[in-house]
Amino acid sequence: MLRLTELRLPIDHPPEALLAAIARKLAVAPAEIVDFTVFKRGYDARKPERLSFIYTVDITLKGEAAVLKKHAKDRHVAVAPETRYHFVARAPDNLKSRPVVVGFGPCGIFAALLLAQMGFRPIVLERGKAVRERTQDTWGLWRKHVLNPESNVQFGEGGAGTFSDGKLYSQIKDPRFLGRKVMAEFVKAGAPEEILYVSKPHIGTFRLVSMVEQMRAEIIALGGEVRFEQRVTGLEIEQGERRGRVRGVQLASGGTVATDHVVLALGHSARDTFESLHAQGVYMEPKPFSVGFRIEHPQSLIDKARLGPHAGNPLLGAADYKLVHHAANGRAVYSFCMCPGGTVVAATSEPNRVVTNGMSQYSRNERNANAGIVVNVDPADYGGSMENPLAGIAFQRELESRAFELGGGNYDAPAQLVGDFLAGRPSTALGSVEPSYKPGVKLTDLATALPPYAIEAMREALPAFGRQIRGFDMADAVLTGVETRTSSPLRITRGEDFQSLNVKGLYPAGEGAGYAGGILSAGVDGIKVAEAVALAIAGR
Ligand SMILES: Cc1cc2nc3c(=O)[nH]c(=O)nc-3n(C[C@H](O)[C@H](O)[C@H](O)COP(=O)(O)OP(=O)(O)OC[C@H]3O[C@@H](n4cnc5c(N)ncnc54)[C@H](O)[C@@H]3O)c2cc1C
Repeated sequence: MLRLTELRLPIDHPPEALLAAIARKLAVAPAEIVDFTVFKRGYDARKPERLSFIYTVDITLKGEAAVLKKHAKDRHVAVAPETRYHFVARAPDNLKSRPVVVGFGPCGIFAALLLAQMGFRPIVLERGKAVRERTQDTWGLWRKHVLNPESNVQFGEGGAGTFSDGKLYSQIKDPRFLGRKVMAEFVKAGAPEEILYVSKPHIGTFRLVSMVEQMRAEIIALGGEVRFEQRVTGLEIEQGERRGRVRGVQLASGGTVATDHVVLALGHSARDTFESLHAQGVYMEPKPFSVGFRIEHPQSLIDKARLGPHAGNPLLGAADYKLVHHAANGRAVYSFCMCPGGTVVAATSEPNRVVTNGMSQYSRNERNANAGIVVNVDPADYGGSMENPLAGIAFQRELESRAFELGGGNYDAPAQLVGDFLAGRPSTALGSVEPSYKPGVKLTDLATALPPYAIEAMREALPAFGRQIRGFDMADAVLTGVETRTSSPLRITRGEDFQSLNVKGLYPAGEGAGYAGGILSAGVDGIKVAEAVALAIAGR
């Protein structure tokens, strides 16, 4: 099979134009082309007036070798790489110890799914509820100001990404195309097929819910188990000379589950579990993350700035953006988890705290665009050290409690208009942008919601962003605080064997352990860790 890259066609091209363009590019008759599939389709929005789709296509054709030879000097024509997934091991018939997967977010789901597909019959322990019940609890906070600390946006079946935009792209290096395996499984579970080829695929919240249920059903059908409302509080560790060895996990209910292999896919909000694992001596270290606010604009403003005359074209959908500014005080300010046509959501898992994030439906047709605008923080900023790897959690909690207070103490979020934020005065009335955060916002002054260096950097960045996207610093745009859970504040460090540095049989994985930063990368990490467990059990 050949791969053709950088094939450009006008965005409104008829479907048959693609075959003709391939034939033209390869200088063959269309009848020579046996079959082709679109591997990727993107567009370059830097010059909106000359927007075109850019295709990568895999082609089966007659006389492939001769065509390849003819285009030997064209770097856009090559042999297509093998992207199919191959299992690395099979469970032995006399499987003695079933692996345990803690957490059923994207990382835990893919770890469990792969283990189940290889015959290892994993046991999944998830602290939250099954996704439909969890949805009720999550809406409880958004509609009624009632938080369930065990069942919310962060905790429960599907993990943190369930109520999200479902963006499925990442910048990880993926030489084995494990991301394709994640996408293929998502499609099998009900995601639209286009996620396999569009350059910035997304699923939206509603579909994610049923997909997660489908994947759970497959794990169970293959002999695995998924147990909800099972909070893991610690590990059974047999002490060894050089490092300990996992022998099981302890549950909040008082019971234990015996196992020699634990995938720890906790997510970044399992603060209580991080604390208990640290108390047990599991090696962890502090890590940088970012804090900031959510910003909301009319989606039409973003569409116009990004897509020019093509704004509103359904083939392109609602436009996104990615911004970064290096501030004079040394901080990087950047957009995070941008949600076109979406809403800002309450994302705390702890009582009396306020945290923001964003989500969209597949249609992305809400009035506002939102994104985190965040500033990097390092362990030195928050007192993190090898002796105190939990300091980042204390820092996050402080900001989240302050936001709760500024919001009026009832889970409303503190908010301010960009014009007022830049002028250094509290907001007293909304302008043309209606904030979407539920349960509600309280207008205030956000200047004390973040450390002074972050406020300073953000005040410099917003006008700079306004020069990249006209109107980005419009006075009526709304900032809502605070965005603190951009990634894990610590890393549960693992070695090349994917196991904890000081506890053998413990596989820290996904976002909570510091090895992923989104749904796709968490899924890929789940696959890698499942493979490591499978190889360890199969004795290879
Ligand atoms: C509102 C929102 C929107 C987002 N939007 C996107 C997006 O569009 N695209 C994207 O790529 N990423 C998005 N993210 C980030 C993404 O969700 C995470 O990066 C991803 O879910 C991390 O996967 P994970 O499996 O490592 O952890 P998580 O998804 O956090 O899953 C961890 C699981 O472990 C469980 N758990 C925790 N502690 C215990 C315990 N002690 N015992 C048992 N179970 C436990 C939790 O209940 C949870 O289900 C979003 C996040 C949020 C909150």
